[in-house]
Amino acid sequence: MKKHNYSAGPCILPQEVFEKSAQAILNFNNSGLSILEISHRSKDFVAVMDEARALALELLGLEGKGYQALFLHGGASLEFLMIPYNLMKVEGKAAYLDTGTWANSAIKEAKHFGETVVVASSKAENYNHIPKGYVVPSDADYFHCTSNNTIFGTQMKEFPSLEIPMVCDMSSDIFSRTLDFSKFDLIYAGAQKNMGPAGTTLVVVKEEILGKSGRNIPNMLDYVQHIEKESMYNTPAVFPVYASLLTLQWLKNLGGIAAIEKVNEAKANLLYTEIDRNPLFKGAAVAEFRSNMNATFLLNDETHAPIFDKLWKEAGISGLPGHRSVGGYRASMYNALPLESVQVLVDVMKELESKI
Ligand code: PLP
Repeated sequence: MKKHNYSAGPCILPQEVFEKSAQAILNFNNSGLSILEISHRSKDFVAVMDEARALALELLGLEGKGYQALFLHGGASLEFLMIPYNLMKVEGKAAYLDTGTWANSAIKEAKHFGETVVVASSKAENYNHIPKGYVVPSDADYFHCTSNNTIFGTQMKEFPSLEIPMVCDMSSDIFSRTLDFSKFDLIYAGAQKNMGPAGTTLVVVKEEILGKSGRNIPNMLDYVQHIEKESMYNTPAVFPVYASLLTLQWLKNLGGIAAIEKVNEAKANLLYTEIDRNPLFKGAAVAEFRSNMNATFLLNDETHAPIFDKLWKEAGISGLPGHRSVGGYRASMYNALPLESVQVLVDVMKELESKI
């Protein structure tokens, strides 16, 4: 039986993506070759890469608006340093919003390149909210934020309007909700939450912000090179890109981001309503900033943990324990997790209440 997979990532993907990927491993497009062994320069794979890049822009509503989509290596973590390498001027500075572990990692990498201004941080409250009322210096080369904090279960509900480029790590909520994506000049996301298997990173960048840093950038870390080579500067992660394309096609067929957003809201409402109703549980994040992707919650009485853990495991749930920085539980409800799986978790929470 397939588990109800609440893992924060690598995570659940649509069943049809697994099925089509499995077929492609055996015989890709009836070519008599596996997707794992075809040349990345073959006509069939170039078509995959082109469609994946175009579809990413289409779903985000960014086609024809001066953006390029790239599928790169190195995870979101490599973007932490590629971004300052490409965008921070020599002797320049960059502004960062510190909303969690990943934002903090991005800040640490940026410090290798120059002055890094942290405009606000919620670290003192263990990142249980998104700071408000911060001021972004208008002379910074860019502003960096993290739209969804996977570990702490908070999500930015609003974004500033700025005169300088805005860069956003959307690793854990890309393609999950409608936003005016044209507000952002660079969006990046590791594939392994809402898009595909680990091994490729989506970077969506507005071309006009590139080539201005005055730095001598090694080719492999230079967005301009990757754009010129149409995301084939070196051998791309052929299988993760193909599986990502299948997920993007699945999303388009569902009706795009607006359609999945409704499902995601229904899932989050169902779970948070139970967290707030059930006297045995409490949410970890300040309600206003709760993430629709990663719901973090705790038992009010830790001694109930063994019985709760037994119940959810028996119900076929996996991946529920929280990250060590928060403790308790984290229910990651990415696009492919069905509403029925959330109902199973809610039923288990109610069952616990009936047993205590
Ligand atoms: N940013 C966010 C918001 C994440 O959730 C993660 C991983 O979970 C990362 C960055 C790091 O991603 P990667 O493992 O692809 O480097």
